[in-house]
Amino acid sequence: MKVLTDLIRDIPDFPEPGIVFKDITPLLGDHNGLQVAVGALVDHYRDAGVTEVAGIESRGFIFAAPIALSLAAGFIPIRKPGKLPYDVIREDYELEYGTDSLELHKDAVKAGDRVVIIDDVLATGGTAITAAKLVERLGATVVGIGVMVELEFLGGRQRLEGYDLISLVQYEQP
Ligand code: AMP
Repeated sequence: MKVLTDLIRDIPDFPEPGIVFKDITPLLGDHNGLQVAVGALVDHYRDAGVTEVAGIESRGFIFAAPIALSLAAGFIPIRKPGKLPYDVIREDYELEYGTDSLELHKDAVKAGDRVVIIDDVLATGGTAITAAKLVERLGATVVGIGVMVELEFLGGRQRLEGYDLISLVQYEQP
């Protein structure tokens, strides 16, 4: 979506040398851009019987909450370790260097729930697949995974095969 592409800027070497960071803050600061982005995902899931929208910390939260409201669904946070106050389940995943983890409150969703997972950027897909595993461990169904930006050259879509994945802006190369 051209209107969104124009509102996403590249920040070279952030947060470390060699990474081109996709900065979505111009999109967030633009009423039309924000409405188009949220509206596109709401339209995609409108008839999917979604019961909760899960946002991945932290930029996923920003989009997940208004999408949840528009779908008449709840919002649930998927967070970095040690941030959620109640009992959690946890999944570890591999990064290029080392490992990371995500946590979800053990009562956040339950069997029969239909959950959409939202993040800002899909890179290798490790974060999204880990979020999906957490939701599924609690017996809920992952209806889909929605992101603003897909970095196609990192192969996240292949890793998420079998899930309904929607992205609004795609980059074929770094
Ligand atoms: P991955 O697990 O490799 O798919 O990485 C996805 C997570 O890292 C998302 O939560 C993104 O916010 C963040 N991320 C990875 N690469 C970038 C990038 N180039 N620009 C902005 N955020 C990124």
